[in-house]
Amino acid sequence: MEETKKTPGQERRDALLYNPKNGYDRLSAQDEIAMHSYCEDYKKFLDLGKTERECVTTAEALAKAQGFQPLTAGMSLKAGDKVYRVNRGKSIMLAVIGSAPLSQGANIAAAHIDSPRLDLKPNPLYEDSEMAFLKTHYYGGIRKYQWVTIPLELHGVVALKNGQNVQVAIGPGAGDPVFTVDDLLPHLAKDQSQKPLGEAIPAESLNILVGSRPFKDDEGSDRVKLAVMEILHEKYGIVEEDFISAELEVVPAFQAKDLGLDRSMIGAYGHDDRVCAYASLAALLELNAIPTKTAVCMLADKEEIGSEGVSGMQSAAFDTFMSDLCDSQHTPLKRCYEASFCLSADVTSAYDPNFADVYEKRNAARVNYGVGLCKYTGSRGKSGASDASAELVGKLRKVLDDRNVIWQMAELGKADQGGGGTVAVYMAQRDIDVLDAGVPVLSMHAPFETVSKLDCYMTYRAAQAVYLA
Ligand code: MN
Ligand code: MN
Repeated sequence: MEETKKTPGQERRDALLYNPKNGYDRLSAQDEIAMHSYCEDYKKFLDLGKTERECVTTAEALAKAQGFQPLTAGMSLKAGDKVYRVNRGKSIMLAVIGSAPLSQGANIAAAHIDSPRLDLKPNPLYEDSEMAFLKTHYYGGIRKYQWVTIPLELHGVVALKNGQNVQVAIGPGAGDPVFTVDDLLPHLAKDQSQKPLGEAIPAESLNILVGSRPFKDDEGSDRVKLAVMEILHEKYGIVEEDFISAELEVVPAFQAKDLGLDRSMIGAYGHDDRVCAYASLAALLELNAIPTKTAVCMLADKEEIGSEGVSGMQSAAFDTFMSDLCDSQHTPLKRCYEASFCLSADVTSAYDPNFADVYEKRNAARVNYGVGLCKYTGSRGKSGASDASAELVGKLRKVLDDRNVIWQMAELGKADQGGGGTVAVYMAQRDIDVLDAGVPVLSMHAPFETVSKLDCYMTYRAAQAVYLA
């Protein structure tokens, strides 16, 4: 058949105008098969990691299975060596040593494994009207109304005075009970319904219902609370005072599920930012060639509350890890940093036609258009953004295009509407060139977030391209 001749206008349009196509119109058959198997593994990772600690445990087990060894100070390293270090059980750093010296820099992907949730307060357990509750203090930017009347699980650790660490996970096991936060019935919600959304559910009403059965054959006070404490004591050997040194996180009881009749999406708790964390991790674990530059994967904690804290991206733990790598080659850390590149792998917001008002459609990330690159994040005039240079964005365009990664350029939303930040600024502070990129998410920070499989897979491919650059 004769090819239809393009009009001069069409020819010039193709040559001059930027008009990206839906990722499914660009995805190879081979990539589509790989995408499905990748997403099955990602869903397993999500179900195993409902907290930052569980993500670290899972990541460490996967790394060990691929031959990664704990990095120790003074260790001698050669090209192809695979090392990792866990920071206080809440963050993990991994590296594959490259053939080029670290003075030429490392290629880093940094993501975070903490997600918005409800943390138990230090003195959480109380009884009111013969029902027992746990008081919570929310972690990260949640929309409080989304956390009522959904099934919840309790995960975390209780550190006893004798140094023993008790692991708690109630909810994920077969036959486990779940918990919930009550909400008002519509019949009596006249006053509550008049309130602005942000005020309808005050933080101090996010109390987890954990029991209603009183301690038997007893006349004393707080019989329900006592009975709950008795169950916890039997199961975990803890007493009420031990809550003081506990980190117990209340998280949604949802498993990761295919979403949509076409199964093109995944619905789950914690896509932000485990979807990019898994992409960065899996790409590193599956590097089947020695990379030119040393490839580093950083899975940080505490991003959702400002990257502060000893397990957050601002902690020197990352610098210690990197300088231990550099020491093995007698390279000053600063020489390595100034030559390094970091992909700040974090999610962005996907354009949602149900809330079109808050997006600037020409610059919004779209579902199935691939990994979303963000030159800058921040809010109201790029405040708090690291704002990558044009040169850096140009370089990454080539890195991704050379490996047929489907990507798009993205902004979070309308400039006056709000904004957000990532770990990028803390990499830039270290003198590391950094660019944000990640999966576009619908309902970000909700208990059940949505992403597209194609975008998940392309974020993995982007991390792989960066490590091999
Ligand atoms: Mn994030
Ligand atoms: Mn977030």
